[in-house]
Order: sequence, then structure tokens, then C-alpha cells
Amino acid sequence: MTKRPARLALALLLTLLLLVIPTAGAAISPPQIIAISFPAHIPTGGVAVAGTVLYRAAAGRLGRAQFDVLDGGFDPFTLSLDNRPSLQTPLPDGPQSFSFRLACDPHPRHVILKLQLFDRAGRASRPAHFAFYCDSPPAGDFLQEEAQVRPTRAKIVLNFYFLDDGVSTITRGTHYADPDAVLAPLAPGMIAVLKSQIIPALGGIWDQCSLAFRLGVSQVVRPQKLIIPGQGGRNLAELFFGQYQGVQVIFVNPTSGTESLDLLDVLRQAGARFDRELAAQGSSASRALDVFIIGRKGLLSRSNPLAFGGVAQIRGRVNVVHWQAVFFKSQQPAQILLPQIVIQAMAHEIGHNLGLFHVTPQQDSLNLMISQPELPRLFPPTVHLLPGQCAQVAPVVAALASP
Ligand SMILES: [Zn+2]
Repeated sequence: MTKRPARLALALLLTLLLLVIPTAGAAISPPQIIAISFPAHIPTGGVAVAGTVLYRAAAGRLGRAQFDVLDGGFDPFTLSLDNRPSLQTPLPDGPQSFSFRLACDPHPRHVILKLQLFDRAGRASRPAHFAFYCDSPPAGDFLQEEAQVRPTRAKIVLNFYFLDDGVSTITRGTHYADPDAVLAPLAPGMIAVLKSQIIPALGGIWDQCSLAFRLGVSQVVRPQKLIIPGQGGRNLAELFFGQYQGVQVIFVNPTSGTESLDLLDVLRQAGARFDRELAAQGSSASRALDVFIIGRKGLLSRSNPLAFGGVAQIRGRVNVVHWQAVFFKSQQPAQILLPQIVIQAMAHEIGHNLGLFHVTPQQDSLNLMISQPELPRLFPPTVHLLPGQCAQVAPVVAALASP
């Protein structure tokens, strides 16, 4: 009488364990990307080209595939896979596959995309990346110039402000101290990347004019909490964010949005305010250039809807650069895949801040300041600076340089 319930309980427990262990084990493992196959070159002009992703995931559990942009002008997109069972092969435990299609617009460019798979519970695979050319690669000199170290005489402080704009994955998961906070510290791994990779890469280009950079503040900005003065209490997102042909954009010029406001003016004022606030907290950010990073595409105008790689005020203290996602090659030390076109766009916009206008390819076919109507597109990016350009920026550099 006394032993039977115990045995029954033991039998029940074993059954429960048998039921629970394999299920729990399978449920914990996130999807895994095995391989991505996609052509290295695809034609420009809208011809869709198919690729295939080989992956492993618990049967029928894959939810979506998220494609983010590591480098090059392209729109991030998400494929919903849970309602497309025909795309998923029915092997329960072996590798499965789905296909996707991409098309290039008419502009030649190099694109690097990041892929992450999410199951229906939201668990993410480790990211993978793949690259392709729209058309064929033009000549450039990015890596040669980066490798050539020249002596520098002046240093300019760069403040980095990353807009948490619902498209950037760099700012995802930022913790704000209170519900109304406008600013929050950038993740430590990204600060390390700015210091160890981005600032040196910008210096690797601008050392042609004996110029180096130093990191000032690095913060995340919440656009919904950034109230723009004189606009009836409306915030940056309400005034400047919108959709254009299904893509989430930021309106750059008064003609691209619905308001007669210039984004760079608004950000220059915001940057000055942040500088004062952060200086009051002890970090001195005066005499610096403010670099605003945005994951959205910038729309220059509605009548001529070109997206941008960056935009800047000539001799102004502010620029905006498009940078949507990063791919960490290692966490310790924090190291990302170097986004060459993003860095070229930053170096180009800094050139405008320092007083440079565009040059034509006829003047210098590999110049940093060539006007590219739809940046970022060229790869490898062009980074030449001419002696005359260095002479032109010298007085602005002298006024901005910090000891
Ligand atoms: Zn420009």
C-alpha cells in the first residue's frame, strides 16, 4: 500500500522528465544559418535575382528572416516565413532552405547585407553576412590610402549621436534612464568600435591633410523625445520621419517633407544643446563637429527622390550620415566588419564641414569630394585629397582643432 504511490510517482516523474527534456532542449536552440548562396555580381536596373539560405531550425518554427544593410545604399527588409510554408523544405531535423530575391536600382554599387533568422518565439540566429556588386566594381583606393600612415599636426573632436529611429539596429536595445530621456549612452561595444576602428579610419583618409580625429561624446538620441523649439511641441520624429515608396525615410530638405524646416539646422541646434547638457555633466564637447548617424534613408526631395549617404552644412558644425547595421567580427576586443562606404561618406561630409565643395571626376577621378548624387554607391570608395583642398580647409581646421 505504501510503496505503490511512490512507484507511481516515480513512473510519473520519469515520464515527465522524458517529455520535458527533449522538448526543452529543442526549444532552447535558436535557428542556425548554415549557408547563403547569392551571385557576387547582379545587373543594375531592377532585374530580380534569386538567392538561397540553408538553415537549421526546429520543424515549422522559423518566423522571419531579417536583412539589414552593413554597407552600401540598399533598403533593409524582412521576409515573413511562417506563412510561406511552401518555401521551407519539409525535412524536420535536417537542413532546410528558403529562397529570396533581390534587385538593384540603376546605380552601380557594392552592398554588404547582414542576415539574421528569428523563430516564432523571437529567438535569433547568429548573424551572417554576404556581399554583392550591382554591376561591376569601379577603381578606388580606400585600402591603400588607409594603409599609408602620414604625420598629423591637428586633431578635431567628433561627437557621435546615433538616432534611435526604428530602422537602425545599432541603437536597438538602448536603455534610457527615464521615460522622457532624450539621450542615453551608446553601448560600450560600439564606443570601443568608434575609438578603435571608425576614428582611425577617418584619420587614415584625412591624414592626407595632416589631420587626425578624437572621439568626443557618443550618445543615442531618441527622436520622439527631442522637442523642436517653436514647432508647437512637436518632436523630431513627428516633423521629419515619414514613408516614401514603402521605405522609412527622414526628410532632409524643406522640399522633401511637409514642413519648411531644414534638418541640418534643427540638428545643429540640438547638437549645441546636447553639448551644453553633456558639458554640464562633465564631458567637454566644445569646438567639435557633431556627426548624427541615422539608419533610415534620407530623402533629399520629393520631386527628385534621391537617397543620401550623408549630408552636411558647408563650414557648419553638423553632418548626418546613413549607417543602418553593424556586424561584430569579435566582441572582445569589440571589432566590426569595416563599413568602407559609411566611412567614406563620413569623411566626405567632414570635408564639407571643413569648407570643401564638390569636385568633378574630370578634376580628380578618385577624389573624396566627388559629388555622388546617390551616395553611398561606389566601391571601393574614392578618398583622394589634393594639396589645394588641404590648403582650403587649413583655416577651418585651425579654428576647430583641439590640443
Ligand atoms: Zn557632398
